Amino acid sequence: MDQHLREQMREHFADLSNEEVLGQLGNQKTIRILEETLGDDILPELNGLKARDLDLGEKLTADDVTKYFPGVKQSVDTLLDVDGSTPNVWIQTFSDKDYIKYLAQMTILGGGMMGYLGTAICTLDFTPSLEALAVGESIAMSLGALSTLFGSPNFYDPNKENISLVKSNVARARGVMAHEYVHRVQDVVGIPFGGKHTYLSEGMAENVRDIVGKDFEDADDSLRYENLRSRFHNMQNAYRLLAKSLGSKVKKDLIQRGQPWVQPFEKMYAYGTAFCHIQEREQGQDFYRKLTNRAKQQLATIPSR
Ligand SMILES: [Zn+2]
Repeated sequence: MDQHLREQMREHFADLSNEEVLGQLGNQKTIRILEETLGDDILPELNGLKARDLDLGEKLTADDVTKYFPGVKQSVDTLLDVDGSTPNVWIQTFSDKDYIKYLAQMTILGGGMMGYLGTAICTLDFTPSLEALAVGESIAMSLGALSTLFGSPNFYDPNKENISLVKSNVARARGVMAHEYVHRVQDVVGIPFGGKHTYLSEGMAENVRDIVGKDFEDADDSLRYENLRSRFHNMQNAYRLLAKSLGSKVKKDLIQRGQPWVQPFEKMYAYGTAFCHIQEREQGQDFYRKLTNRAKQQLATIPSR
């Protein structure tokens, strides 16, 4: 999609910009919904899965991508009412020129992560983990400390139409495939992502990942566990941030101990998932399909130059 179209679509979706999303979240009703969701829905299931010491699979290989991506794509396509072409999906290695270039670019471009996050290429996803930290550290040696903060950069590159995956465990990677494929769909149908629409685009990607994950629950529930872990992380961050801004007290049993603050880049996932969760409560899962259909209809009205 060219820049002209992107601009028009951003204007069309101005009512769902970060500012608007945040405005809708900042009230006590949101706090109550988040407490209820964390306490009744997420934590009991997550703790149950955690206690079972699940096998999360080996490190991701190209065969796993071939095996799992088509099913993930189909589930997302069905939910969002699209029938898109298949993007390239590859697994990053440290010798990849694109990967190194990308990291260098983001370090230079931003001069700091906030600057970087404002750019159009931003669809990185950060799922902090021990292995990601180890990865981050080794990159940090050559590219500066920034990447340590980022954790693991999975991303969709709209210019090359590539999905690039970190070599995480298979259960996590399957969830990430869904997330990144949602960005691909957003790109194709014209739902704005990056810039002033990161809350919407990241929230949609995370929550769709969670919904379609349920199509693939394995006997060992490993995929569910990884998706739910990510969901918990985002929702508790939203809860902490919103409670703080509204001056209300956080219930300690609903948040993770040993995590002192929410990293600035995590805000988009936090606010995004909370916002989309509230929309889902009101409109059901149709919310996402309505977004893609709205974008498709709008895109059809814009004359090409
Ligand atoms: Zn993303």
